[in-house]
Amino acid sequence: MGPPGAGKGTQADRFARSRQVPRISTGDVLRQARGQDAELDRQARATMDAGRLVDDDLVIGIVRKRLAEPDVKVGFVLDGFPRTLNQAEALDHLLDDRQPLVVVDIEVPEETLLERLRTRRVCAKCGTPATAVLLVCSACGGPLVPRSDDDLRVVQERLKVYERESAPIVEFYRRRPSFRSVDGDQLQESVAADISSAVASVLGAR
Ligand code: AMP
Repeated sequence: MGPPGAGKGTQADRFARSRQVPRISTGDVLRQARGQDAELDRQARATMDAGRLVDDDLVIGIVRKRLAEPDVKVGFVLDGFPRTLNQAEALDHLLDDRQPLVVVDIEVPEETLLERLRTRRVCAKCGTPATAVLLVCSACGGPLVPRSDDDLRVVQERLKVYERESAPIVEFYRRRPSFRSVDGDQLQESVAADISSAVASVLGAR
């Protein structure tokens, strides 16, 4: 969990690679649908470009379908889902006997978030995240462009939406023994190390 710019995508990717488990990002699935899945594209594009949340049923459907695939049996990382209480409740049902769901909240002050989102770039070719100091994508050499929803007005809307819709889920999970929060205002490596220890402290205790 964490607001836009907290580093969820980067950390989820690192963690999933290090544990060799799939990373499920609803934002990535929705972005990939652009130009490929006409129906999904039609339903999600305008909402995403405005910085608002797409329909609960749509994203729950994406996650339900993905969790039915065999490669998630060993475990998985969810990135950007759940984002509403409705989605969090649906996830509990979907997981059923696959608990514990380890929830890690990445905490970052708002000034840092705004600065990160202002300088965030993404490869136009392969979607790898980067910052404005790089000129080309380190993964594939493709051109780096701002994400279409990182425009300042949209960013402010996304932060507002986070506070309204998603921050209450942190409170929903905080009471559980499998909840941890980490300081996201540190070097990427330190955040990654803290997330690893946080997850180990939940799973190790079992
Ligand atoms: P992200 O890449 O996770 O920041 O997601 C980008 C955009 O996709 C969000 O601003 C939403 O418009 C949409 N989106 C991604 N995940 C969800 C979700 N779980 N619920 C609703 N909308 C989502």
